[in-house]
Amino acid sequence: MNLASYIRDIPDFPKEGIVFKDITPLLLDFDALDFAVSSLAEWARPLSVDFVVAAEARGFILGAALARELGVGFVPARKPGKLPGETVSAEYILEYGVDALEMHADAIADGARVLLHDDLLATGGTAAALVDLVRGRGAQVAGFGFLVELSFLGGREKLDGIDVKTLIAYD
Ligand code: IMP
Repeated sequence: MNLASYIRDIPDFPKEGIVFKDITPLLLDFDALDFAVSSLAEWARPLSVDFVVAAEARGFILGAALARELGVGFVPARKPGKLPGETVSAEYILEYGVDALEMHADAIADGARVLLHDDLLATGGTAAALVDLVRGRGAQVAGFGFLVELSFLGGREKLDGIDVKTLIAYD
């Protein structure tokens, strides 16, 4: 299946000069959604993870489906101030500013094997923050699966030594 045909370019969003990759047409089509989740799950199954951790907000969509498919639990990494319990935090520089991600401090057991997920890899700032969060809790990053990679931004270099899988790449 040509998954790239379900990604829509939106020029000048969220600001002038940025061409936003919109994944909503893919989410709208059951066959494309099913294929995307199944493909990531097929890659991730041999990694034998204990949890999927994904970044707010678009990472939650496929992240939770992926956890269900793999038969493991799901941990949301949220924007600051959203989680009710005690949290740990990692800051990052986004393509469009500075932000942070938080996770419940007791969400992941020491030594757990974790699969990370986000919808899209751009500069790699968000992804690197997720890695910091998980490793900061003494867990192991078994792999990082993305739907889309903007290869020309070089985000993969921030994930050196990690097993990275992307379903759609733009050079
Ligand atoms: P990075 O931190 O620069 O790698 O940016 C990745 C984050 O920004 C991800 O959480 C994406 O959801 C979001 N993002 C950046 N560019 C796009 C885009 O073109 N489409 C959808 N999400 C994007």
